[in-house]
Amino acid sequence: MIPAAFDYVAPSTVEEAVRALAEAGEDAKVLAGGQSLLPVLRMRLAAPAMIVDVGRIAELRGVRDAGDHLVIGAMTTHYDLQRDQSIAEHAALLAKATDTVADPQVRHRGTFGGSIAHADPAGDLLAPALALDTEMVIAGPGGRRTVPAAEFFQDFFTTSLAPDEILVEVRVPKFTGWRAHYEKFNRVAQAWSIVAVAVAVRVEGEAIAEARIGLTNMGAVPVRATAVEQALLGQPATPENIRAAAAHAAEGTSPTPDANGDVEYRQELARVLTGRAVSAALTG
Ligand SMILES: Cc1cc2nc3c(=O)[nH]c(=O)nc-3n(C[C@H](O)[C@H](O)[C@H](O)COP(=O)(O)OP(=O)(O)OC[C@H]3O[C@@H](n4cnc5c(N)ncnc54)[C@H](O)[C@@H]3O)c2cc1C
Repeated sequence: MIPAAFDYVAPSTVEEAVRALAEAGEDAKVLAGGQSLLPVLRMRLAAPAMIVDVGRIAELRGVRDAGDHLVIGAMTTHYDLQRDQSIAEHAALLAKATDTVADPQVRHRGTFGGSIAHADPAGDLLAPALALDTEMVIAGPGGRRTVPAAEFFQDFFTTSLAPDEILVEVRVPKFTGWRAHYEKFNRVAQAWSIVAVAVAVRVEGEAIAEARIGLTNMGAVPVRATAVEQALLGQPATPENIRAAAAHAAEGTSPTPDANGDVEYRQELARVLTGRAVSAALTG
């Protein structure tokens, strides 16, 4: 279908974009890579009066090293993130999760910030963003504010972004030397996650010194598997210890049942995939 008519602006600074959003009120939408927004417009699930295209704002593109953390501009494409050396070195989990997103065409257009702002529970970058304690830098009419990932994701497709705010960048603490893996379960290649598990671990000698684990599609928002993280701490990385820790993966989760699986099925998937993901992170 053809989208309903809308006005279009393509500002060149964040401040201009925020002004355009504020002037249009609740009837405006930010356009990033368009991979999620355009299908919504074409199906007429939304009919905003104004589209604010942030694709020409140079500040929003690229990854930079800011000392103890990396800064990912919201308009950095999945493709660019996959190939960034500093991401590979300091935040490998993000690169591994991005490798599983859709297909090359979507990864060339779709953006990291667009995925985070869209907040689809099946999106593959939310759980890694949560597990790595990232922070979202948001610009609005009152200036800029920073929101931790744990507070940013609020509900299905709902974040703490107000209609007149823009996600500018995401700050990622450095996890240098950590091992990482993203284990995604879907029915066909390039499909969205039914359930997926994001794991980053730090090993000291034979034992797991720290673990960060995030679950995709195990609730309305990404979930941290804290019981598994704690069960792994200080443990030698044996298959028995990993299996025992992974048995806690579904604790505190409330996945949404759908045609792909009911609650029990998804919770069993979370346990199985967590075991696989931790093992793969340790050996990969
Ligand atoms: C066929 C297909 C398969 C896909 N498979 C997967 C998959 O397996 N895993 C996965 O994770 N994703 C998947 N995606 C989604 C893809 O990753 C998109 O890139 C992503 O969801 C949205 O990014 P975008 O840049 O295209 O954002 P857009 O579509 O432009 O925007 C999405 C939403 O976020 C808002 N928004 C975007 N940027 C900002 C910003 N800077 N500030 C405030 N609001 C903003 C928009 O207003 C809109 O509401 C798939 C998409 C397609 C088309």
